[in-house]
Amino acid sequence: MSGNDAVRFDGVVKRHGALAALKGVNFSIQPGEFFALLGPSGSGKSTTLRLMAGLDQPSEGRILFDGADVTAREAQDRDVAMVFQSYALYPHMTVGQNIAFPLEMAKVPKAQIVPQVAEAARKVSIGHLLDRKPGQLSGGQQQRCALARAIVRKANLFLLDEPLSNLDAKLRLETRAELKKLQRDLAVTTVYVTHDQEEALTLADRMAVFMDGEIVQIGTPAEVFARPNSLQVAGFIGSPP
Ligand code: ADP
Ligand code: MG
Repeated sequence: MSGNDAVRFDGVVKRHGALAALKGVNFSIQPGEFFALLGPSGSGKSTTLRLMAGLDQPSEGRILFDGADVTAREAQDRDVAMVFQSYALYPHMTVGQNIAFPLEMAKVPKAQIVPQVAEAARKVSIGHLLDRKPGQLSGGQQQRCALARAIVRKANLFLLDEPLSNLDAKLRLETRAELKKLQRDLAVTTVYVTHDQEEALTLADRMAVFMDGEIVQIGTPAEVFARPNSLQVAGFIGSPP
């Protein structure tokens, strides 16, 4: 253990023309932590995750992974795995081919791909669906396929952007519990974007509350829910100030 933060944002600003999607964001995430980015729609959560993944560049500020400045580093060199709200599965490929895709991109030898795909699929309970196409899966199964594709490469950082929001309420609750268990088993640093207060409360070790391009509070869910530091936070999380 190096003693560094797994992730650190240092004065990160992101502008789109005149609009500042992020207005100077500072936070750090500890190794192995389940860290939630919670806030209303348009508050800058996805922007923060995309900057972490290297899918976008900040206008100002620095991003560090384990003490190293990765601000200029390309997405494929950051050792992160991301799951999008839409899952973004390839419809013409089978489940197995979808899960194998990141390994093929990373030029993993063919002989290692099959067992690694099988292991990732088994961890999310879709080992029996490898020959199906995404269109033949339920929403919950598609979500598991996206998770398997993310964990197959054993990345250092797991980024999830509202991964449960397309599921119905019952499935969302079940999958939430499984996701927490999966994260504990993998012991991987996880950043989880959500606008759902209860998801943040049940999943996160700590969370950052986003409002209008800024972080307005950081703490454990218990701290933030018990002691929101402003009327704005109290209103959003539904606790008395
Ligand atoms: P959240 O994920 O919290 O809903 P986003 O990070 O997606 O919010 O967006 C934050 C703000 O930045 C919003 O006002 C959004 O419209 C704007 N934004 C995000 N991406 C772009 C873009 N590529 N071009 C212009 N504006 C953008
Ligand atoms: Mg978003």
